[in-house]
Amino acid sequence: VTDWQGKHVTVAGLGVSGVPAAKVLHGLGARVTVVNDGDDARAREQAAELEALGVTVRLGDGDTLPEGAELIVTAPGWKPDKPLFAAAGAAGVPVWGDVELAWRLRKPDAAPWLAVTGTNGKTTTVQMLASILEAAGLRTAAVGNIGVSLLDAVLGEEEYDVLAVELSSYQLHWAPSLRAHSAAVLNLAPDHLDWHGSMEAYAADKGRIYEGNRVACVYNVADKATEDLVREADVEEGCRAIGFTLGTPGPSQLGVVEGILVDRAFVENRHKNAQELAEVSDVTPPAPHNIANALAAAALARAYGVPASAVRDGLRAFTPDAHRIAHVADVDGVAYVDDSKATNTHAAQASLAAYESIVWIAGGLAKGATFDELAAGAAKRLRGAVLIGRDRALIREALARHAPEVPVVDLDRTDTGAMLRAVQEARRLARPGDTVLLAPACASMDMFANYNKRGDAFAQAVRELGA
Ligand code: ADP
Repeated sequence: VTDWQGKHVTVAGLGVSGVPAAKVLHGLGARVTVVNDGDDARAREQAAELEALGVTVRLGDGDTLPEGAELIVTAPGWKPDKPLFAAAGAAGVPVWGDVELAWRLRKPDAAPWLAVTGTNGKTTTVQMLASILEAAGLRTAAVGNIGVSLLDAVLGEEEYDVLAVELSSYQLHWAPSLRAHSAAVLNLAPDHLDWHGSMEAYAADKGRIYEGNRVACVYNVADKATEDLVREADVEEGCRAIGFTLGTPGPSQLGVVEGILVDRAFVENRHKNAQELAEVSDVTPPAPHNIANALAAAALARAYGVPASAVRDGLRAFTPDAHRIAHVADVDGVAYVDDSKATNTHAAQASLAAYESIVWIAGGLAKGATFDELAAGAAKRLRGAVLIGRDRALIREALARHAPEVPVVDLDRTDTGAMLRAVQEARRLARPGDTVLLAPACASMDMFANYNKRGDAFAQAVRELGA
């Protein structure tokens, strides 16, 4: 679409992507109707703001396709099986997500995209990537869930050479024509299956990120499903498959040799077999899963032509976002670490693997997950566990099956003081040299507004211990 004048566009869903999309499309001259399921106070406020501009808004009616609609631009979270999309399909109306819209609206000479998806580690990897690109003197931004929004990055005043873009499986589902310069799938573990319908559908949506790549498809050597997605993708001629591994890299791979991150894929002439990129200690935190994130970021940056020295400088300059394995304090020789962002079992598994002797604080909303694998894998590292939240019994039972000798404190409280109590219990269980790790493996909304608030409560409780 190049001529938006008078075009009937339906924006499905108010909220973080819908409101800006409606404004931009209206500004381009389209006739915009927003449909929204809910009609709560927030929705009314947003509707009023859009109506003042001349946008039509229908609250409480997210499933009726407006008369004359020629295109739907949907919020990424809307499920593909919603009746609205069936109606659109029957009427031959295309559906775009927020990413597709940004991709279509970008300027002709726009910055290429280096794209990242995966079940866990997306935000971290995209931020590492942006830091590396910056260290190379490039004008760039980390774009996606946090930082700059895609529409702003594409349409704003700021000029970029290249963008580091985080993409969720939902966004990829609705982005049929996206073609990245290079892309990485970090890992694939069951998540959001209720939305996608099956693991196959989830993987297929993630795999869309490789479609049409020009230079490199970056995959995780330890996660064969990611390599399979590369093989199935239809890419441009000359596009290479590049693996990353925590072990010694093979040809066309980046990896780790004796504590050094090395590149055997994009080797410069004078480095015969491998080029040193950085030391493991340059990565914060230097946990295995985070080294993997750093290698994926390095692979994308190197695919873009960034020199090895910028990888080191960029990784050194990088500091992780809050609540991602953040060291809060040491109290009586025990380290307190906040990984509140570990909202699923795959993420919690990664952070549990990063410490030797752990008092684990976990629990919350399980979202249909099972905890056997997690409990079995962590068993020998656990000094003890303190369980909180609504679904804590699921974790307690898994620990009883796989780690029967580990002492467990089951906190039957969901009030605001529960986190302080949990931290006090953890302190009682811990010995000097241990790590008290908040890695809940669950969503937070049974007790907190979000994972940030949960992590803040933990940090506050730790400070009270120290006081
Ligand atoms: P995302 O944006 O995909 O949610 P984040 O970078 O915000 O990922 O990290 C979320 C959590 O996932 C972290 O707190 C950490 O527990 C875990 N994590 C990060 N990277 C990885 C990885 N490569 N593999 C497994 N878990 C990871």
